[in-house]
Amino acid sequence: MSNKSPESIEIQELISKMPDIAKVEVLETIQYKDQSYPIHQFSIGDSKLNSPTLVLVGGVHGLEKIGTHVVLSYLNFLFEQLKWNQDLQSFFKNFNLIAIPMVNPVGVAHNKRSNGNGVDLMRNAPVDAINKSLFLIGGHRISPLLPWYRGKKGDPMQAEAKTLCDAIKRVISKSPKTLVIDFHSGFGLKDRLWYPYAKSSDQFPAIDQVNNIQKIFDRTIPQHIYQIEPQSDQYTTHGDLWDYLFDWKEDNFNQHDFIPWTLEMGSWTWLKKNPIQIFSKLGLFNPIKNHRYDRTMRRHLLLIDFFSNITKNWEVWKK
Ligand SMILES: [Zn+2]
Repeated sequence: MSNKSPESIEIQELISKMPDIAKVEVLETIQYKDQSYPIHQFSIGDSKLNSPTLVLVGGVHGLEKIGTHVVLSYLNFLFEQLKWNQDLQSFFKNFNLIAIPMVNPVGVAHNKRSNGNGVDLMRNAPVDAINKSLFLIGGHRISPLLPWYRGKKGDPMQAEAKTLCDAIKRVISKSPKTLVIDFHSGFGLKDRLWYPYAKSSDQFPAIDQVNNIQKIFDRTIPQHIYQIEPQSDQYTTHGDLWDYLFDWKEDNFNQHDFIPWTLEMGSWTWLKKNPIQIFSKLGLFNPIKNHRYDRTMRRHLLLIDFFSNITKNWEVWKK
């Protein structure tokens, strides 16, 4: 029996209004307590992956539903426009957008950060932090009953983490240039755009490309609200999937042309404005008031548009 979370219903609605140039596939189905939880991937544009690709990822941490919602609302924004906007249709002739809006469907449906096995998927890659990481938060192997559990040493990756990694490896081994935005929420007052590494404060090998993108972004949208920094400026963690995928790409095709970004939407402002939220587990990670929710949905559309354009026009940052 398929699960009926509001997010999975919304995904079905999106599928029912998909334009011709989009397609959807189920990458994997997770079984949990007699229900099935498919992991969907949408793609628009050049399905042969010969073109630059932007990948949008949400719902790695199930509690941070807002990430899934931002990706789904962007897909809706595209699907509606693709019905009538011919310029947008031709934009996708040599550009590819892939979206995996809900990597951890069990976590989203059951309000858990981890997957059904209690594993924090963003601590589950076979990567150890080089710099000392924070106790527990950085990832640990003590017990799946505690948050930030990495999984047992030597175990294969969890199905959800492996599904995401396999999907990204497929893209980055073919597509000439790839950017990713992985949507999270919960840390701090600001919206932060993080690039690797999470495992160490060593300089990120593609720092020149990051700096080029940041310069263009700052010039293009001087009013933007994002704090751009390596994740390790805030804290280092074990098992980060993006560290793992970036290193995999560099080991196999050393081109500095794959840059995975994480958008960490600062939820503490939502708390500051509505302190009662602190009593709700979901409220720690998601805006509750309608106007704040709508603003969050709108706020990042421009960021995703910019990332689409900069991915397609990669000559300006890939020197
Ligand atoms: Zn997260």
